[in-house]
Formats: sequence, structure tokens, C-alpha cells
Amino acid sequence: MPGLNPERLAEVKERLLSRKQRLWLEVKQQLKNNIGDGYQEMLSTARDEEDQASVSLLAETHLSLLGPKRQELEAIEEALMRLENGSYGLCENCGLAIEPRRLEIMPETPLCRGCQSHREKLAKAAAR
Ligand SMILES: [Zn+2]
Repeated sequence: MPGLNPERLAEVKERLLSRKQRLWLEVKQQLKNNIGDGYQEMLSTARDEEDQASVSLLAETHLSLLGPKRQELEAIEEALMRLENGSYGLCENCGLAIEPRRLEIMPETPLCRGCQSHREKLAKAAAR
């Protein structure tokens, strides 16, 4: 893997996992605030409150409430998968190594800087 030694990768994994944990807590809190009773009802059918699958299901039905957080969670999940299969640090679009400094700031990013800004331009053009 270009530029990323095992220690560095372990560190990235650590960061992603703790970020993921924090996001889940925020998501749960947000769902609780927004759905109130429905949330409790939903959770009471699950074995315990930490059951991520039930929260995930809830998040699914209340997508619009979560927006960016959900996207970030998905990005983190994908980054963790890439760590597992050894493709972490490579741009998913062009296959080149993502700038180390970029990974430092956004460890979950799947794109190099060039592809990211290209994509943003396309999104802007589409939104017009
Ligand atoms: Zn790229």
C-alpha cells in the first residue's frame, strides 16, 4: 500500500472507529429527539438499546432527518472496508494514491483531491 505502513493504518482504523461510535451516539440522540415515542417503541422490540441494527433500521425510515451524518457514517463504513481489503488510501475514481495530508484531515474520504473537486463541479452543474 503506497505510503501507508501498518502502524499508520492501525491509527487510521482507530480514528475511524471512534468517529463512527460518536456519530452513532449522535444519530441515536437525534432520532430520539425527532421521533420521541416511536423511537422507544421501536427499541423496545430490540433486545437492548445498543442494538445497532434497529437503530440502523430507524435511520433508514428517517433518512431526511439524518442527512450528512448518515453520509459520513456510510463513508466511514466504506473506509473501514477498504482498510480490510487493502485498497485504503487509493482514490476510488482514478486509482491513484490519495494525498497523505488529505487522508490526515479526512480519513474516510474515498477520493483524491482532483477527483473530489471534479465531482463537486459536476454536482454543482447538475444542481443548476
Ligand atoms: Zn482520483
